[in-house]
Amino acid sequence: MIEVTLLGTGSPIPDARRAGPSTLVRAGGQTFLIDCGRGVQLRMKAIGVGANGLTALLLTHLHSDHIADLGDLIITRWVTTFDPNPVPLQIIGPPGTAEVVDATLKAFGFDIGYRIAHHADLTSPPPLEVHEYTDGMVWDRDGVTIRVAPTDHRPVAPTIGFRIEHGAASVVLAGDTVPCESLDALAAGAGGLVHTVIRKDLIDKMPMQRIRDICDYHSSVEQAADTAARAGVGILILTHYVPGIEPGQEDDWRALAASVFDRQIEIGDDLHRVEVHPGVCAKPAS
Ligand SMILES: [Zn+2]
Ligand SMILES: [Zn+2]
Repeated sequence: MIEVTLLGTGSPIPDARRAGPSTLVRAGGQTFLIDCGRGVQLRMKAIGVGANGLTALLLTHLHSDHIADLGDLIITRWVTTFDPNPVPLQIIGPPGTAEVVDATLKAFGFDIGYRIAHHADLTSPPPLEVHEYTDGMVWDRDGVTIRVAPTDHRPVAPTIGFRIEHGAASVVLAGDTVPCESLDALAAGAGGLVHTVIRKDLIDKMPMQRIRDICDYHSSVEQAADTAARAGVGILILTHYVPGIEPGQEDDWRALAASVFDRQIEIGDDLHRVEVHPGVCAKPAS
């Protein structure tokens, strides 16, 4: 079984009820954080996961809403790990990730210096290893594999989606993308598909062109559902709601997805948890 928790279901627009985009995936005793949006560690704390308990951080792309709390995550993991030989945090993302991580370490350079000066047992900066990929197998450890494929969020590029597998269970995390063939292939036959969505029908009516621009490079609810249907996935898990879903409006969003995808649809607030069991996908991709 793979467990998916929507830690943050928000977007760049601050929302009192929703943290920024972040999803936690637990599989085979390993814990993966996918993106680290605003407030991610508050939500992790709520389910008993510390930064020091993460196996790896997977970044779909380098938009601010998806990496807003990268510095907080790196520093917190560093100062709350008491092992004298700490395991480096594995960070997997698209090209550009190493530059962002380096710049983040620079931004926190004073803090890192203060802490090394103050604590005798902290003798070096946060240990981490960055791996940049656009395609292929990127992880194979203790029965868990992770595959990466390009997505289409242009002009934001490169961007990637992840497919995490454990035994016969599988979950794909699409990130921000419009429908594309490489995502279809990555998601083919997956048990679960976590997809970010916007309501183009609502956003298109907004007066600010800058807000309407976001329709260009995101999937609508119906497009995400169509990707799920084409790929023959078992469970469609929607997140990154733009605009934020108001209380009582969940059924409207669900109905839009259900008009295209006739299997299990999950929509929820922060901390919504979904179990993806082996063999949940019984339907061949169309
Ligand atoms: Zn984005
Ligand atoms: Zn986003």
